[in-house]
Amino acid sequence: MKKVKSDLHLHSVLSPCGDLLITPGEIVKKAKEKNIEVLALTDHNSAENAEVFEYYCSENDILFIPAMEVETKEEIHILCYFSDLNTLKKWQSIVYEHLPGKDNDEDFFGPQIKCDFADEYKEKITQMLAGAVNLSLEETTKKVSELGGIAVPSHLDRKNSIISQLGFIPPDLDFKTVEISKNISLENALKKYPQLNNYQIIKNSDSHYLKDIKAYHYLYLDGLNFFEFKKALKMVDGRKIILI
Ligand SMILES: [Zn+2]
Ligand SMILES: [Zn+2]
Repeated sequence: MKKVKSDLHLHSVLSPCGDLLITPGEIVKKAKEKNIEVLALTDHNSAENAEVFEYYCSENDILFIPAMEVETKEEIHILCYFSDLNTLKKWQSIVYEHLPGKDNDEDFFGPQIKCDFADEYKEKITQMLAGAVNLSLEETTKKVSELGGIAVPSHLDRKNSIISQLGFIPPDLDFKTVEISKNISLENALKKYPQLNNYQIIKNSDSHYLKDIKAYHYLYLDGLNFFEFKKALKMVDGRKIILI
């Protein structure tokens, strides 16, 4: 089994309220410096920078996990991971059908920027990507799983989490892995939320700034591919995630 550093929750210039320097190419460069071998770009309700991000990952021998952080109707953030870019694009069209349908208020939120393969700004996405989409938590997890993907609830100790919004983790949704933020220790998280003892816990950087990119966990995998990654999230065949 191989032990690799990974960061599975990151935002680029496509996510409003981030730094304007956090482009796909710069993210990969920073991750490479930190010996990170598996990366997922999880912009809010969108994957417009995923293709360019995949290109930079493959140039740098990093395993690219197609992903998105979606905000459900209940204002819960969910990380969604998929096997390939086309499936992520299918998921993006479903999410886009359920966006609030407003224009982005650039002065308030900041611009939402799509980059090109030279890592330069290509265009601004004018439709507001931040905020809740009109899909329930249940609909979201069901559709992600129908596409062969896997869902992980984000930052359970913070706002916009399954715990802040519902007060508990619905057992029928069958999550195996849940995320805590980098601001809380595992010990304190388990003390504060004893229900987390039933889950594998993951921590990520949730970076909106290049300087914040860092690995907070190791993945134990037998080869670098999505199916091994999925096994680690599901804790199958000895694949697992251990916090650093
Ligand atoms: Zn979030
Ligand atoms: Zn996030």
